[in-house]
Amino acid sequence: MSEAKLSGSQPLFEIKNLKKYYPVLSGFLRKTTGWVKALEDVSLTIWAGETVGVVGESGCGKTTFGKTIMLLQHPTSGELRFHFPEGPRELTTMSSKDLLSFRRRVQMIFQDPFSALNPSKRIFDSFDEPLRVHGHGNPKERKDIIAQSLEMVNLNPDYMYRYPHEFSGGQRQRICIARALCIDPEMVICDEPVSALDVSIQAQVLNLMKDLQRQLGLTYVFIAHDLSVVQYMSDRIMVMYLGKIVEMADSLSLYDAPKHPYTEALLSAVPIPSIDVKKKRIILEGDVPSPIHKPSGCSFHTRCRYAMEICSVNEPKLVPLADSPTHFVACHLYGDDSKNGVTPILTMEKHREGNL
Ligand code: SF4
Repeated sequence: MSEAKLSGSQPLFEIKNLKKYYPVLSGFLRKTTGWVKALEDVSLTIWAGETVGVVGESGCGKTTFGKTIMLLQHPTSGELRFHFPEGPRELTTMSSKDLLSFRRRVQMIFQDPFSALNPSKRIFDSFDEPLRVHGHGNPKERKDIIAQSLEMVNLNPDYMYRYPHEFSGGQRQRICIARALCIDPEMVICDEPVSALDVSIQAQVLNLMKDLQRQLGLTYVFIAHDLSVVQYMSDRIMVMYLGKIVEMADSLSLYDAPKHPYTEALLSAVPIPSIDVKKKRIILEGDVPSPIHKPSGCSFHTRCRYAMEICSVNEPKLVPLADSPTHFVACHLYGDDSKNGVTPILTMEKHREGNL
């Protein structure tokens, strides 16, 4: 899939046809009776220095995506090619010793700063361990790095001798960010990094993350369910539904003119800070279907207000829009699906005018 590229940027992480299935075990003998298809054929290239936002409802595969590209869990199949300074290498076949270098370059920040820090360890000890694992053998050097990392997130370096319970939620998340950055990564996977924080603190942490990205040239994968937060942070956004990408575009295009009916519904729930603009909220009926028994054809057809006959039969492919080749959408309302015997096709706008 060719994708938009930040000017002057290089590919950092190429993900191809990534799948992650979990077995459903049942009975006394714990036999596999089915599969939870948490990720299906996810492909994208992440460019150095960009922020890729990942959005969707709970259970759409966002967190599985983050954990799988971080190799916290092994993919069922697919390619994960990371660009090291010496060249690209496939991660799924690397030895655990070689993976140490990848783990230094890619770090993760988790949703809950309260459980991410061990309550019985001082902040110093929580930082010291990853630094030692990644080859910072000198205690003085480690102490200096911890102090600098805390300063970088606007915390007093003396806090390293305190325990997690002595900090507020916002301070703990800053500490988690500092810990992720202390080993000098190139990319950070942020899984709902502000959703456990008070709204008043969220903006401070988001601005801090943006500043750090500028200063350190970081690449972010930013996973969140709050679309306004994702829009604020991201250069490009990928919308997921039942383990698949259904739409992907740069942040402005996606928010100005969403193409997939699921994205349209998600965005209709985002408040606009203006009393002059009125927006009709699209209520999505029902819950996300089970990833064990996905609907046939387009898996969104059970909830889609534009669904046509073809939608429950043929699965739409993720294809670029004819007039915007960096905007990808998987929906029968767009493009020429004639290979599947489908006549082309209405746009969502025309469909809306005629039928709703
Ligand atoms: Fe809706 Fe059909 Fe498009 Fe799926 S393919 S999103 S059901 S219009």
